[in-house]
Amino acid sequence: MKTKVIDIPAQKTIALVAHDNLKPKLVAWCEQHKAELEKHKLFATGTTGKKVALATGLELTPLISGPLGGDQQIGAKISEGEIDVLIFFWDPLEPMPHDMDVKALLRVAAVWNIPVACNASSADMIITSSLMNGVSQREIPDYDGYLQDR
Ligand code: PGA
Repeated sequence: MKTKVIDIPAQKTIALVAHDNLKPKLVAWCEQHKAELEKHKLFATGTTGKKVALATGLELTPLISGPLGGDQQIGAKISEGEIDVLIFFWDPLEPMPHDMDVKALLRVAAVWNIPVACNASSADMIITSSLMNGVSQREIPDYDGYLQDR
């Protein structure tokens, strides 16, 4: 696969998702990092977004609830270049009705080289990275080159 390097603006677009058992952790994480999160654009799946917005007052764009297609919405946005960071506290201890969507979201995030945090310590690393505060670069599949080769 040919790749190319693109610039990611200083203001990142961050997608927030947490499974039910992890929602309190994600809400606490958002409270802790509110000042940093306010600098960026936020999307979240339906229930996660509602809880985060209520607890923190952060402005975010809500998507559909995860089990009803929200994970797939985020995946589509990633493939369209609209998401720069994925904070996804998925539950390793509970089977989900939408396990396939969870796997698909993590796969598409890997395809497009999106930084992904699946727990609070990884999310801490990402949100405090110097790459969050300025223009950064990301290597992604070169879709035009991909089409030319087919
Ligand atoms: P929710 O979706 O924020 O609507 O609960 C998250 C998920 O289960 O993927």
